[in-house]
Amino acid sequence: MKFGKSLLLGELLKADAVDHPDVSDNRFWIVCPACSEAIFKVVRNAESDKPALHYFSHYEASKSYASDCELRVSSITQHDVDRLAIQSRAQKLQYFIAALQRVIHEDFLNPFDDQTHVFTESYFRVLRRSGTVSLVRNMMYEDFVKLIKKMSEEEISAFFDYNIEGMGQQEKEYLSTHLSMTTQKRIATDLAKHLVTPQARPSFHCLFDHAFTWFRIRLENNVTTNELSGLENDLLPVLKKLPTTSRKKGIFMLANLQETDYSKLYNAKCNALTILEQALQGEMFRILIRLPYLDILRSSLATKPGT
Ligand SMILES: [Zn+2]
Repeated sequence: MKFGKSLLLGELLKADAVDHPDVSDNRFWIVCPACSEAIFKVVRNAESDKPALHYFSHYEASKSYASDCELRVSSITQHDVDRLAIQSRAQKLQYFIAALQRVIHEDFLNPFDDQTHVFTESYFRVLRRSGTVSLVRNMMYEDFVKLIKKMSEEEISAFFDYNIEGMGQQEKEYLSTHLSMTTQKRIATDLAKHLVTPQARPSFHCLFDHAFTWFRIRLENNVTTNELSGLENDLLPVLKKLPTTSRKKGIFMLANLQETDYSKLYNAKCNALTILEQALQGEMFRILIRLPYLDILRSSLATKPGT
């Protein structure tokens, strides 16, 4: 049969749109849309010259039983697929919005970097209240809104790819334990679009504060491992001091960055402040693509039986 139903995503999935590991690792919990039995994916002609045939099949079923399902599944239309996808997308987004700030912080405390536990609850409280940090945060918010509103979904997706490239090895490995990259990106794109709506402003602030701290950790790690990016001398002191410095001194520090020419480092006209902004934006995109959507979906299913 051509379609399977993902219990996890609440969507009908076409066999040729599902990667093998998604099925074999049971990442989506795919079942027969007619009888809800577990099914598996078959690819026929995979190694011959003929076009490959992708389909789902029951593990075991008597012939009559399977063909009954076959008949019912073959009557599924694209309209049914779209309707379910839209419903489940809206529903998933609801779960994420409710959980977003908690999930961002949990991701921060997570596994692939042991430096994060140094940054305590009181550190984040200082960040939230700092008038100086809010200067940068507000500036970044304006840019983020403009960027997301102007980009198509494909462009946002490409932007995610670009930022995944900048991840460290452990971070990439951590990411590979999640849903397939296509699904991670689709959900992250929905979230990015949600974040530019006015009611999501507190979530954006939370995302920014964690991106700010991630970038500091990344630069500190560069110093520790002596793999310098060239930004450490100028940016690291600013990231460290900004949260506790007065607004007046903060403005002075930012103005200094603006006068620090990085054209040679980047082979394009830019200064340390624009590079800082780009780096923070990159960290925000990395957090969005890294969030454990699979776990969130699972726990939302666990607490909402029958949905
Ligand atoms: Zn069936």
